[in-house]
Amino acid sequence: MQIRANGNPVSERSRFLLQFVVPAFAAVLMVAAVLAGLIVVAAGKADQVATENQQNLLATVLQQRIDATAHDQEGVTVWDDALLQVRAPVPDLAWIDSNLGTWMASYHRLDEIFVLSASGEPIYGMQAGHVVGPAEFDSELRSIAMPLLAKVHAAMARPGTAAPKNTRMLTPGAIDLGVVGSRPAIVSAKPIVSDSGEVVQRAGTEPIHLAIRYLDGAFLQELAMSYALQDAHFRIDRPADVSGIVPLRDDGGQTFGYLSWEPFRPGTLLIKRVLPLSILSLVLVCGVLAVLLRHIRRSILAREASETQAQHLAFHDTLTGLPNRMMFDDRLAHELAAADAQGRSVALLYLDLDGFKGVNDTLGHPAGDELIQAVGARLQAVIRSTDLVARIGGDEFAIIQTGVRSPAEVEVLCLRLIEVIDEPFAVSGTQARVGVSIGIAIGPADAGNRAELARKADIALYESKAAGKGRFLFFAPAMDASIQGRKQIENDLRLAVDAGDQLEVYYQPLFSPESGAITGAEALLRWHHPEKGLISPALFVPIAEQTGQITQIGEWVLEQACRDAGDWPIGSVAVNVSAVQLRDPHFANRALSILKEASFPPERLEVELTETSLIENAAGCDVNLKILRAAGVRVALDDFGTGYSSFSHLQALSVDRLKIDRSFVSGIGSGNDGRAIISAIMDLARASGLKVTAEGVETAEQQRFLSGIGCNSLQGYLLARPMPAHEMRLALAQPAST
Ligand code: C2E
Ligand code: MG
Ligand code: MG
Repeated sequence: MQIRANGNPVSERSRFLLQFVVPAFAAVLMVAAVLAGLIVVAAGKADQVATENQQNLLATVLQQRIDATAHDQEGVTVWDDALLQVRAPVPDLAWIDSNLGTWMASYHRLDEIFVLSASGEPIYGMQAGHVVGPAEFDSELRSIAMPLLAKVHAAMARPGTAAPKNTRMLTPGAIDLGVVGSRPAIVSAKPIVSDSGEVVQRAGTEPIHLAIRYLDGAFLQELAMSYALQDAHFRIDRPADVSGIVPLRDDGGQTFGYLSWEPFRPGTLLIKRVLPLSILSLVLVCGVLAVLLRHIRRSILAREASETQAQHLAFHDTLTGLPNRMMFDDRLAHELAAADAQGRSVALLYLDLDGFKGVNDTLGHPAGDELIQAVGARLQAVIRSTDLVARIGGDEFAIIQTGVRSPAEVEVLCLRLIEVIDEPFAVSGTQARVGVSIGIAIGPADAGNRAELARKADIALYESKAAGKGRFLFFAPAMDASIQGRKQIENDLRLAVDAGDQLEVYYQPLFSPESGAITGAEALLRWHHPEKGLISPALFVPIAEQTGQITQIGEWVLEQACRDAGDWPIGSVAVNVSAVQLRDPHFANRALSILKEASFPPERLEVELTETSLIENAAGCDVNLKILRAAGVRVALDDFGTGYSSFSHLQALSVDRLKIDRSFVSGIGSGNDGRAIISAIMDLARASGLKVTAEGVETAEQQRFLSGIGCNSLQGYLLARPMPAHEMRLALAQPAST
């Protein structure tokens, strides 16, 4: 299991770009391109079809208009009067103008009209609404008209063709398209014939009505209007750039010009109309996509961040930011496997702060937290980058030292660790001092698996703590046995407390040196183990202190002592009180209520405390001692001289009695004479107004010396051993033996 590094925002962004943004926009643009392509192709096709339709339509319309010219002429050319007037020796020009000229020009909008004799000579002419002379029928007109005239006469002369079949025409005509005066024009020739048949005219000699209709003038305008032609015009050359064209062919099939226009392109129009909307839609889609992607990116980033944070929290201690036990276990298993494979060793160091509880109790939890943080930082600064430090408990840390070649390397690290933790810490505006005890197990020599190695490092730590503070100890197999034994005692003691009949309070009398009378008794706990027999309190009390059972046991001893000694004719009963009990701020009040319950006067109780317990938790002690002393309970300092033994402390401590430790008493009379020390203690006690008891008096010489020097009471095997309550009762009943 590896902790993921914090995501680099740059790579995060490019990854997101590659993974999401590019494909999404590529897809949108591809769809847009395909759609655009399809639309362009469809529009092109639509344009093409529309243009073709227009071309066909216009070709038809043009033909219709051409035909209409001839048809219009028939209104006046199939007429007896017209024939008579035209062929009269002196034609009535006014009549001709009115009926064959002006009328046709104004009503049928013919541009030029000529009435020709059968031989093609002009009889009447009109151009642009004005009557013109024969001279205007110029050679160009003549060259166009004469072939038509010939055609008409030929057709008329052909029998049976006077009235063409299958047409609306009454007479055959000749019609041509061509250029007249450089303008495209329809030129239509019609024979002037009798409508009644009564005016006889030899076939093929008819006078001719010649009509010219220019295509580029009014005709074109009207055409453009009717069919909504854009930019329509006639031209001689084929235009290259316009697709709407209808070729104009003369009678011989020769193309002489083109009608061209800008064709209606519905497809292009559609594109033009739709294009801005499409672009807008595309921009909109891209915009929505961008917003969507942004949102997705944000939520992905947020999810990743919370995952990273959750992962960090899962594997790190929140207070120090150091790896936690989970990560530590994982790494230890990994390092053990690696060490095994490489033939190297890995050292597992368990660290426990000495005196942390005192800092926590006196300066408060926030200061304790600050201290733990500072310790974490110092440890982290000492180890190499390949090592790992983790916080695995309140004031417990663990270090994995990798690539270890010899125990000396571990020792160097331990000394350094003890050194840095020994330096004072600045917390809560003051200085705090703690120490550190270290237990070490080496893998794979001590254990090849994580759990076993951890257990052994823990045992080494326990032993290290027990051996005194600020030390380090390597695991040794013997520790295992002692720990196992301790574990056994711990379990058995729990059973004993529950069973209630295995614990007993013995009493050891204290004697007056002068009278030899019993002046007091010390309550001493005994454990009758069902299998192991009598177990010394020196062995099981420290264990009970560690497990916290001492609180319950200690209170039971007090209750028992009050019950047993309530009616004994002695001054006081001494009860040993552990440092663990004193730490509890409610201890004094609970003790007093026990006394009250047993109706045992507080003045008759003496609590025995050790120097070390007093000094280690001065703050907690003070409160309890003040309450107890205020109630009349006296305090004795047990095992005096074995602890810090700083005489200056005595002043500060509120005690009533010193109990000189057995180790000094046993020095009396031996080579290593303890008399001088005892004399010094006596002087000090006297100066401080304290009473003194000597413990462990085993010889008469010791008794003599201690009596002589002014001890207030004596306790020891020479005088009496600790005994059950009923024996004590008997001993009290006996007279004093001096
Ligand atoms: P302590 O309070 O210093 O008790 C005196 C110890 O010295 C007792 O050991 C006693 O039997 C022993 N002793 C007395 N006279 C002589 C002597 O002449 N020669 C020798 N060699 N020893 C002598 P014990 O009863 O084994 O208790 C050991 C310690 O266990 C006590 O030392 C005390 O610290 C602790 N303890 C005993 N009972 C209790 C208890 O009820 N509560 C607590 N907290 N501690 C207790
Ligand atoms: Mg004692
Ligand atoms: Mg003692």
